[in-house]
Amino acid sequence: MRISPSMSVSASPSALQETVPCALHPERPAVGTCARCGAFCCEAEAIHQGEHLYCEACGHRPEVSYVEELRAKLWGKRDTWAWLMLISAPAHLVFCIGSGLEGMWSWAVLAGVNAVVVTAWFLGVRLARPALLLLPPAWVVGFLLKGREALEVVPLMVPPMALALAAFSSTRSQLFFRLEVEPRRLERLWNARANNPLASRALVCAMVSLVLPVVAPVAVLLGWVALRRVNPEAHPPVGKKLQALEAMGLGVLSLLGWTYVLVRLKLGLPLNPL
Ligand SMILES: [Zn+2]
Ligand SMILES: [Zn+2]
Repeated sequence: MRISPSMSVSASPSALQETVPCALHPERPAVGTCARCGAFCCEAEAIHQGEHLYCEACGHRPEVSYVEELRAKLWGKRDTWAWLMLISAPAHLVFCIGSGLEGMWSWAVLAGVNAVVVTAWFLGVRLARPALLLLPPAWVVGFLLKGREALEVVPLMVPPMALALAAFSSTRSQLFFRLEVEPRRLERLWNARANNPLASRALVCAMVSLVLPVVAPVAVLLGWVALRRVNPEAHPPVGKKLQALEAMGLGVLSLLGWTYVLVRLKLGLPLNPL
């Protein structure tokens, strides 16, 4: 059966809002239809993934939500922090044994506790997280009790404290410990790890090319490929257009700059034309 033109209804977004109710909440107007199941959904439950919109049930499905997919993939999996903890364990242990043999018992105990905490971290024991934050202050207290000046030891503990805080607050590490992570932080992690990683690599190459000009063509090429991959309509969306452009621009700039320098050196001219 053919539908005559007079029967068709134009559905502008505003008309949709006014006339169609949400499938779950009839008292609320729908803001659109779910890209997966097609149900009308209201703003309160709509989940926006790039250009797409999903109802609450569909939006939380791992195969739909790329950030939820990332959560499922990294849940309980050891990250770089966990492996760094394991690698540092033997050093703490050697220090612990060495101090013990020399009769420096307080240092031996502190180093021993350190070794236990980093090993527990690697094994995924959640108590290791707050314990790690207590270690640098414990060393400071140890030094103060030995009669060292506060001004002398506190600055020494800034780098380990910064590292401990970085490990403690890392989203990736929290996923390893199976801790709940807000979708917004997960989105940031996804953006850093999985969103057009070639663009980030191109930018790193471009920065290296400023001192090592042979890398410049690689930066331009990678930037070009990354730029061609950009597609905000895709699911998940592929972004980082700016990074790809920056990599290409910086790569070209490096090539031009180094060509200029090399040509002037070859001609025996001063680098400063003025
Ligand atoms: Zn749906
Ligand atoms: Zn609703």
